[in-house]
Amino acid sequence: MNDEIRRRMFREMEQKAIFDEARDAAYNYADQALERNVFPTQEAIENLARFDQPLPEDPGDAHEILNQLNTFGSPATVAQIGGRYFGLVNGGIIPASLAVRWLTDFWDQNTPLYLSSPVASRLEEITEAWLRELFALPDSTVAGYVSGSSMSIFCGLAAARQRNFERLGWDINRKGFTDAPRLRVITGRQAHGTVSKAIALLGFGIDNVEWVDTDVQGRIATDAVPELDQSTILILQAGNVNSGAFDDFSTLCAKARQVGAWVHVDGAFGLWAAASQQLKYLTAGIELADSWSFDGHKTLNTPYDSGVIMCRDRAALVNALHASGAYIVYSDNRDGMLHTPEMSRRARVCELWAALKYLGKSGIDELVYGFHLRARQFAQELEQHGFEILNDVVFNQVLVACGSDTLTTETIKNIQQSGECWVGGTQWQQRSVIRVSVCSWATMPTDVSRSVKAFVDAREQARTTSV
Ligand SMILES: *Cc1c(COP(=O)(O)O)cnc(C)c1O
Repeated sequence: MNDEIRRRMFREMEQKAIFDEARDAAYNYADQALERNVFPTQEAIENLARFDQPLPEDPGDAHEILNQLNTFGSPATVAQIGGRYFGLVNGGIIPASLAVRWLTDFWDQNTPLYLSSPVASRLEEITEAWLRELFALPDSTVAGYVSGSSMSIFCGLAAARQRNFERLGWDINRKGFTDAPRLRVITGRQAHGTVSKAIALLGFGIDNVEWVDTDVQGRIATDAVPELDQSTILILQAGNVNSGAFDDFSTLCAKARQVGAWVHVDGAFGLWAAASQQLKYLTAGIELADSWSFDGHKTLNTPYDSGVIMCRDRAALVNALHASGAYIVYSDNRDGMLHTPEMSRRARVCELWAALKYLGKSGIDELVYGFHLRARQFAQELEQHGFEILNDVVFNQVLVACGSDTLTTETIKNIQQSGECWVGGTQWQQRSVIRVSVCSWATMPTDVSRSVKAFVDAREQARTTSV
């Protein structure tokens, strides 16, 4: 052994040829992705078999590795950076935010502590203040930067669990659930699946939840919410994952505050409505909640790996995530790990900071309101072509049905196969529906019209093949 592999790596760092190749491949991808088929072709999928190789005995060649990934991996991606992907709630990517990610990848920062990355620490603080201002949240609110809403919901509910148990004189970190007083968890029947997951992970038990009925739009039925008390955690939703509907925060948060119940708002994509002049009526009252979870990688179009937990009660969040008992770790500088479950983390805040700085308040407003306008355009054009729209399009989500469930399901399949655009299906009030989520800055009105045409063709094809 003569340090051969190390010498090679020094050479690669110095010569930078592999980085140039990666850059060229990325540019090529970006140029094609706007126009290519949205879902990979059958051939591209079959070519993934090329990756079925044994773990190498010996070092490989960086060029070959990159080349293999680009040749057989790039075509098997879903073209999410283009304007015609409407599945899940997947945002596009803001160029400035992507560029920042490239730079910060070279930094390779680990960000648990101020001392491990002063720049990340500072940007976390600044971004926290910006988000507080943007969403008009209370002055005491702190932010933790996590991987996504799954994790930020978990953090919010962990803080709620901490605080509510503490009020009842119980240290959950030390004593656990055995012999613990009972906490109540209340949420709507249409809470997101990741809410149930967090409830399970935190030991509350999904069967112990007091599930509240929802109205035709998927909003929690305000009148059906049971009496709250200080042992209660109430989980509300800003943006139903299917319909985009918003719960009645003003009424429910006010009620909760009166009795000292904790309110968490799952605002994964919908919280951003608060940043739009025309849409912020939807989030009225959120400032009365205790914790809020949302993503950068959905509505704000940052790269993935960007979730945020915001919590009005710093002590509850920090104590919950660090099992540190009834004290706060004070530090002159911000130590990011106090606000997240993870210790080692990349400097993910940089992309969020960059997106906010790039767009500014008016740019965010334009972006978010633009999703709404395109969603309404979708609904309008589809209706003109005889499709049924099942939800009030209050935000960026559109639920669409054809005559029968079979026709709808077949139509979805045909749309997906067309490569023209991509939409998923879901169940809505016992019906199969097409689910459209407009969430990328790259979606222009022409993309909507082109996609509507794909819908019409796909339905026509379904009608002719099913008879
Ligand atoms: C996407 C989503 C989540 C989960 O967020 P991830 O970032 O995918 O972990 C939770 N709640 C709602 C309403 C969502 O749309």
